Amino acid sequence: MTIKEGSLEAPTRHPLDWRNPQFYDKDATLAEMERVFDICHGCRRCVSLCNAFPTLFDLVDESSTMEIDGVDKNDYWKVVDQCYLCDVCYMTKCPYVPPHPWNLDIPHLMLRAKAIQYREGTPTSFRDRTLASTDRNGSLAGIPIVVKAVNALNHNDRFRGMLEKQLGVHHKAWLPEFTDEKFRTHATPSAQHPVRDGERTPGKVAVYATCYVNYNEPGIGHDLLKVLEHNKIPYVLAEKESCCGMPKLELGDLESVAQAKAINIPPLARLAREGYAILAPIPSCALMFKQELPLMFPDDPDVAAVRDAMFDPFEYFVARARDGLLDTQFSEPLGKVSYHVACHLRVQNVGQKTREMLQMVPDTNVHTVERCSGHAGTWGVKKEFHETAMKIGRPVFRQMGEHPAGGEPDWIASDCQLAGHHISQGLAEAGRSIDGRLAHPITLLRMAYGLT
Ligand code: SF4
Ligand code: SF4
Repeated sequence: MTIKEGSLEAPTRHPLDWRNPQFYDKDATLAEMERVFDICHGCRRCVSLCNAFPTLFDLVDESSTMEIDGVDKNDYWKVVDQCYLCDVCYMTKCPYVPPHPWNLDIPHLMLRAKAIQYREGTPTSFRDRTLASTDRNGSLAGIPIVVKAVNALNHNDRFRGMLEKQLGVHHKAWLPEFTDEKFRTHATPSAQHPVRDGERTPGKVAVYATCYVNYNEPGIGHDLLKVLEHNKIPYVLAEKESCCGMPKLELGDLESVAQAKAINIPPLARLAREGYAILAPIPSCALMFKQELPLMFPDDPDVAAVRDAMFDPFEYFVARARDGLLDTQFSEPLGKVSYHVACHLRVQNVGQKTREMLQMVPDTNVHTVERCSGHAGTWGVKKEFHETAMKIGRPVFRQMGEHPAGGEPDWIASDCQLAGHHISQGLAEAGRSIDGRLAHPITLLRMAYGLT
């Protein structure tokens, strides 16, 4: 068979075979890593995407043979540790993904390796599980009497030093504040607007709030509801929700992903079948329902129904505008906006809908930065990875801090608010504080409508 240099066909993705005992076979996984790493060594296109590829290429270049056979297989785990499963190499770079016969899927191979590591246990297991328990952390830290203490301690140098020593959370890493006014309990109920379905968009919306919006920045959720209300789109909240499972997936804890799925999918599938568009205001959570769960549960019709109803909010708003059912008369200019496209939004393959929407606002100049910020969920706050996370983000910090229209931007925005805070930290460390100028794109849209 002739092997083509790269595939001209549309990429496909195989389901994740995680229920097969072979999935957890360590020798088979190491053999597959050797096969795939050898191809990557010969290609090296992805060298600038993250630190996993430079780690691999350094191992090869420093080995006695300068080929993959010279690398100790025990060192493969160093590559695994540097991957935060952003999916960018698979979705945007690699010409050897299926249907190419080389059948490369680096993120799924790294996930398989992480799942093996998770089962075996690592010295950082307790820290990793604690950071990944976003809904449990949110409900505990958000208890009114606890929330102020937790938020104050986050800014206390002695406490942060102790946290680094005891738990392995880097003392300089930005950590989210908690709220005692959870979004889901304070959300304004929808007015009784008639449902106006469009050609591309259902006329009613179900909001999957996400842990981050519910426990950390409820304002983003309230702004989303204000934009829906302004456009007379009736909405409901998902009847109940748990973490989407992405932080657990990133650890390789696939059983916990399945547990979260068992809580989230039945109510969301009901809403999907009732004709709601489901909106998740954090890209990683939307991606979980659009891609990761369907690959883990390819034969589950409820998972497929949720996948088909799930929208990134700006994907929905732009399609709604194309349907002629969104108000595109904005009263407030936004000026110079530095906008970062989050990796987990890029790999949804919906195009730059946030940029398209913000660019509709008069007297608004959107400068788009499409590169990894380095934060990567819980990865960038870990003691051993934080410095690398800041290094990966440096080109993004620089581009976000300088607007091509001249001078500093009026606003810094990322679809991933965690990346937004990471970028703010990078700019502050470079002596370019952007105090008060970080705003989620949904908040910018609310402001552009002149809504308070
Ligand atoms: S999935 Fe992301 S972090 Fe992992 S190897 Fe690919 S580009 Fe790097
Ligand atoms: S993942 Fe694909 S594009 Fe990236 S280095 Fe490996 S072979 Fe090359």
